[in-house]
Amino acid sequence: MRGNAAEHELVAPGSLPAVLDLLASAPGQWMPIAGGTELMVAFAAGRLSANKLVSIWNVEELRFNDTTPNTLIIGAGTTFGDMRSNALIAAEFPLLSKAASWIGSIANQTRATLGGNLVNGSPAADSSPALLVYDAEVEFISVRGKRRMPYSEFHTGYKQNAMTADELLYAIHLPRRFNKHRQYLRKVGTRKAMAISKVALGATALMNDGMIDEIRVAAASLAPFPVRLTLTEAVVAGNSPIPEMIEAARHALLTESQPIDDIRSNAQYRKVVGANLLEEFFHSLSREPEAR
Ligand SMILES: Cc1cc2nc3c(=O)[nH]c(=O)nc-3n(C[C@H](O)[C@H](O)[C@H](O)COP(=O)(O)OP(=O)(O)OC[C@H]3O[C@@H](n4cnc5c(N)ncnc54)[C@H](O)[C@@H]3O)c2cc1C
Repeated sequence: MRGNAAEHELVAPGSLPAVLDLLASAPGQWMPIAGGTELMVAFAAGRLSANKLVSIWNVEELRFNDTTPNTLIIGAGTTFGDMRSNALIAAEFPLLSKAASWIGSIANQTRATLGGNLVNGSPAADSSPALLVYDAEVEFISVRGKRRMPYSEFHTGYKQNAMTADELLYAIHLPRRFNKHRQYLRKVGTRKAMAISKVALGATALMNDGMIDEIRVAAASLAPFPVRLTLTEAVVAGNSPIPEMIEAARHALLTESQPIDDIRSNAQYRKVVGANLLEEFFHSLSREPEAR
């Protein structure tokens, strides 16, 4: 059954302080709506439970990117279209650029925000594996001030996160230190474009004389929320990508991943494809790095 607009109230205070005041005045009562590409689908399907919506789409203070010598800071209101056309993201965080190009269609990317992708908390969110392997931090804002935490601690359960009811996701911080890392991201879906992933795997590795010095592996759709695969990382760190290590890493991934069954795929398929992608990444390490 379609949603009924008369049952929903939408306000657009227009500035960040005004939105934060509203959230603080009635915590949990107002749901932020950014690009609306998740929420309007829920509305159309008659399953949008929030009846009070506060628009943050026109809040310029959330749509920015700042650089310091060590960090790139992306405002939560930045769209995937903005990210695709950002030269610094393309040069230093190519996996994020790639993920941005995968989100729905071009029309989607002009509305869909990075903040909405993370807060929505889908296990299949396309930006998540890239942010996890780049060691991103998330920053929240409320009338009480700002606070930060590693993105790897943000998702606490299926569609659950570490934000409080009066907070907004404000920004994502990315350390600018991955230029020498080997980088990998692959999404497997039913088709090449306009598909939510069945499973996606991202990885970064720093190689030192054939050994893997530093490794991060993260996945979408291998757990009820996007995760780092820390057991798999521990098996790999300090080793070279020889067949025995690859087999041990596959085993670790199969052990620690806990995918869900849903309409797109089932848990067993997701595990096996995740292990195959991991193996593909290790094989790529023995080839010359591609020019960026
Ligand atoms: C046709 C179609 C194709 C899609 N394809 C993909 C795809 O390939 N890959 C993919 O990952 N996703 C896909 N999506 C999902 C969606 O586009 C993304 O998740 C998008 O990034 C959501 O951002 P938004 O700004 O539209 O979020 P909204 O719908 O505005 O909000 C989503 C949730 O985030 C909350 N929220 C938003 N911003 C903030 C903030 N700053 N602070 C606190 N809470 C906030 C909202 O309250 C809501 O709970 C698709 C959607 C559609 C309709």
